Amino acid sequence: MQYRFEYRRYCLPFRLPLRTSQGPWSEREGVLVRLTDEGGRAGYGEAAPIPWYGTETANEIETVCRGLGEQVTVERLTAVASHLGCLRHALAAALAPSSGHRDPPAPLGVAALLPAGRAALAAIPARAEAGFRIFKWKVGVETVADELGLLDDVCAALPGGGQLRLDANGAWDRRQAERWLDRCADRPVEHVEQPVPAEAADATDLLLGLAGDYPTPIALDESIAGEGDLERWLAAGWPGVYVVKPSLLANVAGALDALLEAKAAVVFSSALETALGARQALRAAFAWTGERRAVGFGVWPLFADARFDGLVTTPFIRWDDLERINPEAIWNALT
Ligand code: MG
Repeated sequence: MQYRFEYRRYCLPFRLPLRTSQGPWSEREGVLVRLTDEGGRAGYGEAAPIPWYGTETANEIETVCRGLGEQVTVERLTAVASHLGCLRHALAAALAPSSGHRDPPAPLGVAALLPAGRAALAAIPARAEAGFRIFKWKVGVETVADELGLLDDVCAALPGGGQLRLDANGAWDRRQAERWLDRCADRPVEHVEQPVPAEAADATDLLLGLAGDYPTPIALDESIAGEGDLERWLAAGWPGVYVVKPSLLANVAGALDALLEAKAAVVFSSALETALGARQALRAAFAWTGERRAVGFGVWPLFADARFDGLVTTPFIRWDDLERINPEAIWNALT
């Protein structure tokens, strides 16, 4: 079977620059792909890399896409180098445009995203009123003392039964992480995400040690973004949570099978992709048969050009919301 292969590179400004531990992030670069089979049926995929998570870059993706040519075989596509996980993800998605569910799965709960620092306090009431119960707060952006000083006020602002999900994006060292985990122990903190950097020399021992010493679960995010990382952590018997960004996984189904077999706690998360990629990523979250946790997709409105958002952020995402996303319209919006 031959396919017609097309790709479109994009560079889309975010509505507001995101504050990350790497500094401000103001525009998203990636590549959309389209594969059309001999019967004229088109499938779409999105390669949405995050290079500082250890993925390939948009330039690398574009170079490989240019080299693929206009007519491709499945063999040619599956031979794309294994370190290009985001591109492989996109090609796999485009090769297998899945059809709808006969019985729509139950809606997915969504975690509300809070701004970093003190601004979180003002943001909670409206989100609580809207029905959110899990609130993700980015920490590690200001000093440990300043942020710990806010923790009790943030907890007090949560609705009844509400929980905080803290994401440090690897900003802390061991001592700082210990201070935080000590403080979280008797507070409504669902988990602490990536307390120490994935690239620290002793990251594996450090994270396993922290997970063993404190009751608050620790979630791995940046630590499982590179090729082979997930397999390594599963083999190490990681007792905490896995933050899975399907867009960064070359083989989503394989990864999820391994996680399910390990009875792993999984949180599905956005890679800040366009609606085309988000549709694919959320399909994986809907297909997950393990324990469900609120998905980290409370990201919209995200892009300056709202055509690429596709969804609005609500406390639940329904299967029908996904089915309304039209990949062709997003593809066409890039011309
Ligand atoms: Mg994270």
